[in-house]
Amino acid sequence: MTLNEIAVIGAGQMGSGIAHVCALAGYKVQLIDVSMDRAEAGIATITGNMNRQITSGRIKEEEREAALDRITPQDNYDHLEGVGLAIEAATENEEVKRKIFADICPQLSAEALICTNTSSISITRLAASTDRPEKFMGLHFMNPVPVMELVELVRGIATSDDTFQTIRGFAEQLGKQWTRAEDFPAFIVNRILLPMINEAVYALYEGVGTVEDIDKAMRLGANHPMGPLQLADFIGLDTCLSIMQVLYDGLADSKYRPCPLLVKYVEAGWLGRKANRGFYDYRGEHPVPTR
Ligand code: NAD
Repeated sequence: MTLNEIAVIGAGQMGSGIAHVCALAGYKVQLIDVSMDRAEAGIATITGNMNRQITSGRIKEEEREAALDRITPQDNYDHLEGVGLAIEAATENEEVKRKIFADICPQLSAEALICTNTSSISITRLAASTDRPEKFMGLHFMNPVPVMELVELVRGIATSDDTFQTIRGFAEQLGKQWTRAEDFPAFIVNRILLPMINEAVYALYEGVGTVEDIDKAMRLGANHPMGPLQLADFIGLDTCLSIMQVLYDGLADSKYRPCPLLVKYVEAGWLGRKANRGFYDYRGEHPVPTR
């Protein structure tokens, strides 16, 4: 099975980034979301990001045009028959993902592979909800996809060697470095990163420092390019919370307890940059701390 045509399901921050790098690498892409508006918003994001790549000299205008021509927005699964690989990049919610797999499996050819971009949910469990666990694995991109070099390759218990090798080759075609991670909650990067972010929210909750103090401390004191609260806003606070919940439930260890302040921000709908408000308020010219 050649992977000429890819379906990316979910046109949010990650899905649009994945469609972006696939199209630049020469693949035809269907970018699918729950409505045409969302799928087209994904394409608008890709166009803006490619324009930035032109300004910084990383791609040429002709490459942008050719790549954008390869991407089709969709709000349904009616055209999946020629797709060699479906990459699920929808909201980090197991029920949402299971429903997507139930909907796409009957539409995909029997040879098609399926990957999930989940940050934390069990690959083995998600694979078991499909009709092809041996053709299923985790392909975990980092945010922002066009900029970050790494993908984590995560096998479920049933993933075949052929599937793993095809997806590893695909990641290399996209110009990505890869690392293998075993199928344990949150894999490698988020297993280490999210508890640090959660601890930063605890530091804020307990009054150890303000938003600005905490971010500046980690930027200048630990040489991190972004403070942990700024990074949390960038990832999305709903995504951060669901990864902490998966760690807490999956490893049954109280050290992964999500900070109540993180829960409160999510309940308020202050989800970070994508909602224009999180630990910072992004509605003005410059981000302003919200605490
Ligand atoms: P997001 O909220 O920006 O986008 C999610 C998109 O999924 C939305 O456009 C939503 O409309 C769409 N969606 C929801 N239900 C759908 C359905 N049934 N069919 C099609 N589309 C549907 O979220 P995101 O940050 O892009 O995260 C997507 C996935 O990528 C999650 O699994 C997340 O854990 C993972 N991830 C996120 C990051 C990050 O830094 N944000 C990094 C790596 C992986």
